[in-house]
Amino acid sequence: MKIRKNDTVLVITGKDKGKKGKVRFAYPKDKRVLVEGINFIKKHSRARGRVRQAGIIDLEAPIHVSNVMLLCDKCNHPVRIGSRFLEDGRKVRICRSCHEVID
Ligand SMILES: [Zn+2]
Repeated sequence: MKIRKNDTVLVITGKDKGKKGKVRFAYPKDKRVLVEGINFIKKHSRARGRVRQAGIIDLEAPIHVSNVMLLCDKCNHPVRIGSRFLEDGRKVRICRSCHEVID
């Protein structure tokens, strides 16, 4: 998966379109990411002990990677990601716009 934890991404579709956030978790198997402040869902919860309050709470839910684009630090733009091999054989992600190494 091209998007990873701690990447800053821009939401390009859905109700949070245009918002930016940091990836808190990546779920490569599901091709989903959990982005800070994005895709809040209402969840009903029952009181459990003293800590949990009963009622409706807002929770972030993972969204599909196809709904986000990586924001490149260097060109400060949502970009497509490419990859390149370094001289030592390591594979790194690159910004297809400014060709800077992202990793
Ligand atoms: Zn760039």
